[in-house]
Amino acid sequence: MKCWICGDEANSGEHLIKASDLKSMFGHVTQKSPLFFHTDQKRNQPIGGIKSDKLKYQARLCARCNNERTQQHDRAWESLSKYLRERQPPIKPGMLVRLDRAFPGSVSKSMLAVHLYFLKLFGCLIAENNIPIHIDQFSQSILHGVPHPRVWLAFWTGLQHPNIKHAGCSQVETAQLGGRVAFASWFYVIDKLAVNVMYAEPSEHRRGLVHAWHPSHVGKHVRICGQ
Ligand SMILES: [Zn+2]
Repeated sequence: MKCWICGDEANSGEHLIKASDLKSMFGHVTQKSPLFFHTDQKRNQPIGGIKSDKLKYQARLCARCNNERTQQHDRAWESLSKYLRERQPPIKPGMLVRLDRAFPGSVSKSMLAVHLYFLKLFGCLIAENNIPIHIDQFSQSILHGVPHPRVWLAFWTGLQHPNIKHAGCSQVETAQLGGRVAFASWFYVIDKLAVNVMYAEPSEHRRGLVHAWHPSHVGKHVRICGQ
């Protein structure tokens, strides 16, 4: 298999959910205190460690793309995730959150890195599920550190289960026009924080995009979405 980002031989799998997010939610995961992993096909698969291959995308990357090339992107998400989950007072729907508190002095650069982190996950989902979205723009954006003009992020809260700690990735829902995807949307969920990752052609004016964020935004804040 080839790495979908650079085309080299692929030998590495990206985590479905970032290891640092799982660690901060579930602590130390072992065979004796496992996580339970569900897919549409199979429920309650015990996971004895967060490095398990079951928690990785099947689409492969080369080690370089998965590690050094995207390490800064991973770290930016790690910081933003921690900030939004631990913020006091806690995030609420409708709240305007200042990003310079999460990234003092480097909002634009760090938020671009967050965008590139979700491009890596989105590209893995596209490759793994053969979704008819051109993946070239995803790889070019990651290789050159530039935004994908059609990928937006919206930050949500209030979607969590009241009693069960839950982290996961939804399936990608798509709206197609003449065989091509005009709009696609999926969620990355980590406890009370969810990220809605969207792909939208310029003609798409979806509700989900209203408070969505894109690196072309100059404002240094995001509006938290919720039900
Ligand atoms: Zn690569």
